[in-house]
Amino acid sequence: MGNPTGFIEVARRDAGNRPIHERIHDYGEVEQTLADDERQLQASRCMDCGIPFCQFSCPVSNTMPEWQDAMFRGEWGEAIDILHSTNNFPEFTGRVCPAPCEKGCVLNIHEEAVTIRENECAVIEKAFSLDLVKPQPPEVRTGKTVAVIGSGPAGLAAADLLNKWGHTVTLFEKNESVGGLLRFGIPDFKLSKSVIDRRVDVMTAEGLIIKTGVDVGVDITSETLLKEFDAVCIAIGAMKPRDLPATGREQKGIYFAMDFLSQQNRINAGTEIPEDQRILAKDKHVLVIGGGDTGSDCVGTSIRQKAKSVTQIEIMPKPPEKRNDANPWPYWPFTMKTSSSHEEGCDRHWNLTTKQFIGENGHVKQVEVAEVKWEKDASGRMNMSEVPGSNRIFNADLVLLAMGFVHPVHEGLLAGLKVELDPRGNVKATPDKFTSLEKVFAAGDAVRGPSLVVHAIAEGRKMAETVNEYLLKQEVKM
Ligand SMILES: Cc1cc2nc3c(=O)[nH]c(=O)nc-3n(C[C@H](O)[C@H](O)[C@H](O)COP(=O)(O)OP(=O)(O)OC[C@H]3O[C@@H](n4cnc5c(N)ncnc54)[C@H](O)[C@@H]3O)c2cc1C
Ligand code: SF4
Repeated sequence: MGNPTGFIEVARRDAGNRPIHERIHDYGEVEQTLADDERQLQASRCMDCGIPFCQFSCPVSNTMPEWQDAMFRGEWGEAIDILHSTNNFPEFTGRVCPAPCEKGCVLNIHEEAVTIRENECAVIEKAFSLDLVKPQPPEVRTGKTVAVIGSGPAGLAAADLLNKWGHTVTLFEKNESVGGLLRFGIPDFKLSKSVIDRRVDVMTAEGLIIKTGVDVGVDITSETLLKEFDAVCIAIGAMKPRDLPATGREQKGIYFAMDFLSQQNRINAGTEIPEDQRILAKDKHVLVIGGGDTGSDCVGTSIRQKAKSVTQIEIMPKPPEKRNDANPWPYWPFTMKTSSSHEEGCDRHWNLTTKQFIGENGHVKQVEVAEVKWEKDASGRMNMSEVPGSNRIFNADLVLLAMGFVHPVHEGLLAGLKVELDPRGNVKATPDKFTSLEKVFAAGDAVRGPSLVVHAIAEGRKMAETVNEYLLKQEVKM
């Protein structure tokens, strides 16, 4: 610990966001950065606690005290080496992680946690700017071949490690570019896509083979896959969206959130979308159904597209502003979250269920909702009931369904492989990421269901370890 009294001398300082009146006119990253000396002062606030709750709260187990200390001393190379030892992509988590580490930080007991996420981002950005992130191709190749299917954070993390350990890895992606939801889900104003390209350039210079535009299970059969590779890693995400089969759902103007978000990300990347296929919020009353992060991303994107109004509704009750006794530190706080997109101008409502979509000439114009109340039954389960006479109407000529995802897409790869699924429809895998099939492994949202980038990286890393052990044992047998 560089400065034992840093946490007393220095207050928490967030870098903050660009002004709203400026940022809503572009898709550039919203979050700002601090100057290096300010950032190092923030790192000096780490108390090097005897029990680092931050580390236990971090799904990839980043060792905060060690790299905060190196950062405070200005040893950027040391800091990034420590970070990279647990996290392949601190530039992704440093931008979009909800930072459970900070919720577990001992200084968060009085809501002054170390700015761990922003510090993480600063370390990797400094490392890139000092040219410290260089390709490290393996000195020896093992001769073993691995197919990684899906290039989201889980597939990228697994491919990165397995390639570095000397296996010949082919990363397959059905989209035109790699990144999974990092590229086609998360908006550019949270994560610039040049950040993904920069990392992928390093990985390809290390010898990773990337094949985009290949829908494995359709363009390559499962049999060919199993014949040609010594190990197969499934990291296809959980892309089956949850639908809302209310009356009037078939009308025009109602879209899944991902169709809307991925189209805008593609346009930002220079892809031309025919006018009749554009999903545009401009001059429309937008209703986002679903109160989570995906919904919030729809809000920010609608505002940038110059919607007339943006409303977000959620079926669950409004969360409390502060932790309650049942949800103490250092656990994840189930409290109210207001994103930068919400701050840009959005009307938010809770406890609302959707009754019907009302339209004119086949196009949605209004949505009827009803209030619900949540009550615990004798067994402690929360039950929902409608409040009689509470129906109301929202004007909405664009409706975005952001109610999450149910499980991975079963058609194609999973059906072809006949891999066992769990009762929720996700790929069934052991904690070590073995599936029901010999030499087939799985990780990320495909196994957990919809989750977070940091969990996907952690899962991808675990899968890589298991695959590596599996391949090394195969070698011994020969
Ligand atoms: C709109 C949105 C915003 C989000 N924001 C955040 C956030 O701010 N912070 C956060 O931590 N998490 C966020 N998440 C969640 C996070 O993005 C995911 O949990 C994470 O990306 C899952 O990683 P993954 O690698 O398991 O799968 P994915 O990222 O879904 O990647 C799977 C990849 O596999 C490819 N694929 C699928 N089938 C095949 C096939 N047969 N052949 C070849 N390729 C295939 C897909 O095209 C995709 O590229 C967000 C999610 C969404 C939808
Ligand atoms: S990956 Fe997420 S939880 Fe882990 S240290 Fe970074 S911000 Fe915190």
